[in-house]
Amino acid sequence: MKILMVCSEAVPFAKTGGLADMVSALSISLARLGHDVKIVLPRYYSIDRGKLKLLPGALGVPVGGGEEWCGVYSTVLPGSDKKSPVDVYLIDHEIYFGRDGIYGTSVEPDFLDNPRRFTFFSRAAFQLCRKLGWFPDVLHAHDWMSALVPVYLKFAERGVPGSAPGFEKTVSILTIHNLGYQGIYSKGCYNYTGLGWDVFYKAGFEDWSMVNFLKAGLYSADKLNTVSPNYAEETKTAQNGFRLDGVLRYRSADYSGILNGIDTNVWNPQKDKVPFSAKDMSGKALAKAELQRRFGLPEDPEVPVVGMITRLTEQKGVWELFGAGHGSAWSICTEMRLQFVLLGSGDAWCENEVRNLASRLPNLKAHIGYSEELSHIIEAGSDFFLMPSRYEPCGLNQMYSLVYGTLPIVRRTGGLADTVENYDEETGAGTGFMFDQLTPRAIYDTVGWAVWAWYNHPEHIAAMRERAMGLDFSWERSAGKYVELYEKTCKQVRG
Ligand code: ADP
Repeated sequence: MKILMVCSEAVPFAKTGGLADMVSALSISLARLGHDVKIVLPRYYSIDRGKLKLLPGALGVPVGGGEEWCGVYSTVLPGSDKKSPVDVYLIDHEIYFGRDGIYGTSVEPDFLDNPRRFTFFSRAAFQLCRKLGWFPDVLHAHDWMSALVPVYLKFAERGVPGSAPGFEKTVSILTIHNLGYQGIYSKGCYNYTGLGWDVFYKAGFEDWSMVNFLKAGLYSADKLNTVSPNYAEETKTAQNGFRLDGVLRYRSADYSGILNGIDTNVWNPQKDKVPFSAKDMSGKALAKAELQRRFGLPEDPEVPVVGMITRLTEQKGVWELFGAGHGSAWSICTEMRLQFVLLGSGDAWCENEVRNLASRLPNLKAHIGYSEELSHIIEAGSDFFLMPSRYEPCGLNQMYSLVYGTLPIVRRTGGLADTVENYDEETGAGTGFMFDQLTPRAIYDTVGWAVWAWYNHPEHIAAMRERAMGLDFSWERSAGKYVELYEKTCKQVRG
């Protein structure tokens, strides 16, 4: 099959979250399975043009009732096999993408012209295919930023009278990575799509007199999916549906969940500097010592280290953990014999609160910022990994943790519920520690439970680690499920 991933992020070019990891890893796995996979994303300012090849000629994109022009760069996705390379195309438009930031900056978190930027980008994907003379079987869009791709396919391309040929046999898939971000803007931006006002209603753009990009994508895509089976169910409820639960229930026959995989080349204890495995955990003890050294903690193998790597935003449960005056971090660190290590960046109030706590608690160390190197050190060296998420479409860190024998302490939500099995203190079964209510008390109790097991049932901890390290979260497994979804969609749409 010919597959085009249309996405706003892909590692190593641009990343703000799990979407970027998913797109590249899935593409590589699909290519290995023999499919012809290409990726298109914007050429953000931070992506060095020096290493890219400029395609000859400009690309004309029909938007806003006229045409706008952009350049296209290309390269091969690093990490993809020589025998089955994944081509990457980067849409170069100085006005839309020639600036710092992917969706915004710390001063302007959501660029005012984001609807324009991503409308242009989504439309450009079709013109790119025309330029290449390569028409995909599957257009795979991701989140609101490319949610217009299924809309354009349905209302401006496939079988639409007067449209240029090429996409008659193409089907569309839209993956929800995070339903919390929908791309809701004032109606004024709709004209720029170049779609008629009849489509505004037919495609479901309308949202309380605003334009909702994701909603239109959810109505228009041939199939929808999200990144874990449990999140697919949760998003159909009012509690987790972010006001789109009705749309998702309406489309439930075409909506499923496929668990993300992880990059087992990058996140693999057997390939680390100090390798270790379930059979020989001596390397993990060394990794723990290194972690303690790096963060200035006493090198003590007896004390459990609880790690955390996260965006410091409400979604991740940081309000309940670090909220001034009521968060549980203070009690956890003062009342339990443990060490706590945090790597993260995000909301200013939370960064400040974490700094404040770290300055007063000798057993809490934090690095405010983004660091791939430190994230590896924390995953490898910690004993437990805390993820008290409010919601979690899939979550990657709990899977990294499991394969590193770093037992997750998680809220039973989204992909966390699909990947972690709760501890049973009678039998020692399970791979982690879970709680249901997102309250400071529940976080405190569950961390306490894990620490209790650490000191009182080391044999359970050892067995849980072995079980966790044997789990398969490879992309091969997930890619196979995407192939099934693509095939099913082609069959249904083509009849
Ligand atoms: P989300 O996409 O909601 O942020 P995920 O768990 O799906 O959550 O993916 C987060 C990814 O970003 C993981 O690969 C995680 O290790 C990484 N990450 C988050 N914050 C940091 C940080 N401060 N430093 C390094 N890596 C981080």
